[in-house]
Amino acid sequence: MEQEKLALMGGGKTKTTPYGTGKRFGEEELKELSEALEQNTLFYHHGRKVKKFLQDFNEIYSVPYSVAVSSGTAAIHTALGAAGISVGDEVITSPITDQGTLIGILYQNAIPVFADLEADTYNMSPASIESKITSRTKAIVVVHLAGNACDMDPIMDIARRHGLKVIEDCAQSYLTYYKGRLAGTIGDFGCFSTNDFKHISTGDGGMVTVNSEDEELYLRTHAFADKNFRRFGTDVVVKDLHGLAPNYRMTELQGAVGIAQLKRLKWVCERRGRYGESISAGIRGIPGVLPHRVTDGSRSSFWFYMFRVDESALGVTRDEFSKALAAEGVPNQAGYIPRVMYLQPMFLKKEAYLGSRFPFDLSDIEYKAGDCPEAEKILETAVRLQVSEFFTEQDAEETARAIRKVALHYAAKAANP
Ligand SMILES: *Cc1c(COP(=O)(O)O)cnc(C)c1O
Repeated sequence: MEQEKLALMGGGKTKTTPYGTGKRFGEEELKELSEALEQNTLFYHHGRKVKKFLQDFNEIYSVPYSVAVSSGTAAIHTALGAAGISVGDEVITSPITDQGTLIGILYQNAIPVFADLEADTYNMSPASIESKITSRTKAIVVVHLAGNACDMDPIMDIARRHGLKVIEDCAQSYLTYYKGRLAGTIGDFGCFSTNDFKHISTGDGGMVTVNSEDEELYLRTHAFADKNFRRFGTDVVVKDLHGLAPNYRMTELQGAVGIAQLKRLKWVCERRGRYGESISAGIRGIPGVLPHRVTDGSRSSFWFYMFRVDESALGVTRDEFSKALAAEGVPNQAGYIPRVMYLQPMFLKKEAYLGSRFPFDLSDIEYKAGDCPEAEKILETAVRLQVSEFFTEQDAEETARAIRKVALHYAAKAANP
């Protein structure tokens, strides 16, 4: 079989047109910001912008309550704090995630325990979660990676049977549907980020949904993000301090931009969803290439697209595949985060606080290579593509064609060495 010559070896590039670009902020954001400044206060409790932002967010998500915070990291910490996660508790989570998932666990002096992932969705496997439960386990922080939903039915079933709280990390997964329900509304809490790299941006920021009609739980969540100030219920701020809580307040400037950004959210997620589906359709059936599988019965809003390379079938290393693809005009990353979280020095040395082993020394947990073998293999064999709401159908077609060209080249070589 005659193969097209790879660009890496002097052949023509597949992708010669530039990827689509566009502006994320415009007149709407400017109008909201200007109104926020005219209020003469930028404090969320006195102004109207954060309140309106949350009202709109609650409506989109059909949740009774949510709390605005300063980041996605803050959102997860707030959910953990409100859920009562505390010293020595174990929290099961994913080894492939942003450190923002883990920071709140450790600040609550709880112990992160890592569950292995599914080979093709890159989300936590329910069976692995269940195998990590001990008498000290108090919560599961599921990470809906890259816009793709975790398999929530079995996870919620496990949580109910073991009496565990479920916190959904939706920082990468806006308007992600799981069996008709929105990710972030299924567990006890849903946590979102509006940092500048997510589907929508307020510079930095975050939201926590409280998926319960329990008003006291909402008030506790709200207070946890505001130094444990109780600003509702009575007409004076209750200043008695019951326990430790950080200041994670969102400002009116973020709320203002957020109001305008929410209006773009559906469009952004639909565009990204369609782009990801087009890549999958374009590379399905190519030898040695495993598409990013969307969880059964769900809809992904593709924060990124990550496929895996079968190195032995193609007779090529992932890194070489990645270089060949880049040469074709398709920017990509070999892998995602540099290593699984539990192989970061903080875990290997069990040193979260300088000069201390606390809280790790409350447990006999060991973090070591091989703990989550599939997660480790994912990072060794994945190629990550950027996704943007401004990318076009042509971008998707040409990207898929480039992946096909590279894969077919190596597959033919492997068949006729
Ligand atoms: C971005 C991100 C976070 C943290 O959000 P910040 O706003 O940056 O603090 C947490 N979890 C995941 C999966 C993320 O992608």
